[in-house]
Amino acid sequence: MIPRRRLPLAWADLGDALAGLFSAPARAAAEVAAFEREFAARMQVAHAFAVASGRDALGLIIDGLGLAAGDELLVPAYTLGELLPLLTGRGLVVRSADIDPASLNVTAETIRAALGAKTRAILVVHLHGAPCDIVAIAELAQAHGLPLIEDCAHAPGASVGRRPVGGFGTAALFSLEANKALAAFGGGVLATNDAQLARRVAERLASRPRGRWAEWLAIRKYLFKIVEEIVVRSPAYALLARLLFAEGRAERFERFYRRANNRVRSGGGAVAPSAFTGVQARWARRRLRQLDSRNARLDRLWRDLAAGLPPAFRAQQRDACGQPAFYNFVAAYAGNIQALRQAALGRGLDLGIGGEVMDDCARLLGETGRPGAATAFARTVLIPGWDGMSPGTARQVIDRLREAAESLR
Ligand SMILES: *Cc1c(COP(=O)(O)O)cnc(C)c1O
Repeated sequence: MIPRRRLPLAWADLGDALAGLFSAPARAAAEVAAFEREFAARMQVAHAFAVASGRDALGLIIDGLGLAAGDELLVPAYTLGELLPLLTGRGLVVRSADIDPASLNVTAETIRAALGAKTRAILVVHLHGAPCDIVAIAELAQAHGLPLIEDCAHAPGASVGRRPVGGFGTAALFSLEANKALAAFGGGVLATNDAQLARRVAERLASRPRGRWAEWLAIRKYLFKIVEEIVVRSPAYALLARLLFAEGRAERFERFYRRANNRVRSGGGAVAPSAFTGVQARWARRRLRQLDSRNARLDRLWRDLAAGLPPAFRAQQRDACGQPAFYNFVAAYAGNIQALRQAALGRGLDLGIGGEVMDDCARLLGETGRPGAATAFARTVLIPGWDGMSPGTARQVIDRLREAAESLR
């Protein structure tokens, strides 16, 4: 079975884990500070704060901007649905702006159409690493005097006009989760050029506890991810995938998987708020140094996969607004994605579909009239592609995809 993704595990991670576990707390603090400095320099932002997750960074941005219950926030109609409870849980009124199904991103036009008199802030995402039209959107936000939040979870290293994404709005969030480009097996970064926001965030974070216990929780999560990766790379995964992703069962499994992951992330409630440890900083610093070569390799892989796609597929349009970074290789399939997934599983190819790729947030919010998001949700297929995928495996991906699609005609 060709799995839909591979975690970027490296032997050096183990060395980092040991070094981090046995170094003094002052050394850990210095590692975190060095990571924040290097991250800010690479992303060309004035301030970067390493925190517990991308979601944690978003929460800190919302609070730091003074957004509170009753304030209305505009979000992309097609993005990670798990962000919504974080917003509605604060009492925010969340509305969505539709996306362009070709790029899977919001545009200045869809945002303008969704703006209302009560809108207090705008959240955009560079989905699957494709920069959205952030220059036009930033101008629009500025014209309306609204703070703009960039979700760069998929896009570290992507740029627009040579400027890295993450510095165009008021603040940005990045994710250092295991499946993201800068994997620190958990963690996130809040980036901003806004001095007032930075001051508020620094105050909130000043009382963060540190210590070896936190280091151990970070390593524990890393060990969980290694176990997951061993399962995914084992021959048994072929059988497991066909069981777990059978029609009618896949959505339940997806919910279970997300819940289990969230439990590991929080250490069953033991992880302190906004914790980011020395071990995580070591992991993140190494991947930050390798980011550009990674993105270049994956850019070539993306082109190879896109060039080989069978006629029923159209790859995400990813470079209309800038230089993309790689998160997942996704394409729109003009047919039944459930049937395609089953046909692909039978041929040893593990595709992601529906909520496994991204969520129709408009639907989750109970909104209608977001045809772009509905189309994206119904058509988008996640096709295996990862750093280090060999040309032979890439060819197999395309061959099996073609066979699966042809079997359905
Ligand atoms: C992963 C992700 C986040 C935040 O991730 P955390 O898992 O909280 O670090 C935010 N937005 C999108 C679109 C994501 O995929």
